[in-house]
Amino acid sequence: MKRDGKKIIFEKAGDLPPMAMSLGTTEYNETGSWRNERPVVDSSKCTGCGICWKFCPDISIKEDANGKASIDYFFCKGCGICAVECPVKAIEMKEEEK
Ligand code: SF4
Ligand code: SF4
Repeated sequence: MKRDGKKIIFEKAGDLPPMAMSLGTTEYNETGSWRNERPVVDSSKCTGCGICWKFCPDISIKEDANGKASIDYFFCKGCGICAVECPVKAIEMKEEEK
């Protein structure tokens, strides 16, 4: 592991704590290309509570201009955790299109 300014560069898997494996790689790689299903937010149901953001392992959920959840499909791996955790079921997992 080495530092480049504020950036920490992990050189091998053994440098990482378990959760940092995801964080360290998704900053640079298009992990959204691995996805089989995509989360789709129903803005009419979303309350903007932020629970999905808290649980997303890839930091792929942002807040849109209306304070609702917005998915960053470049990084989202389609794990479905956000859909499970949303208390009002505002996120639906849909099969990825080719
Ligand atoms: S958990 Fe559900 S209601 Fe809360 S911000 Fe996410 S999508 Fe919206
Ligand atoms: S499907 Fe998984 S990776 Fe994608 S936004 Fe939801 S929790 Fe994050």
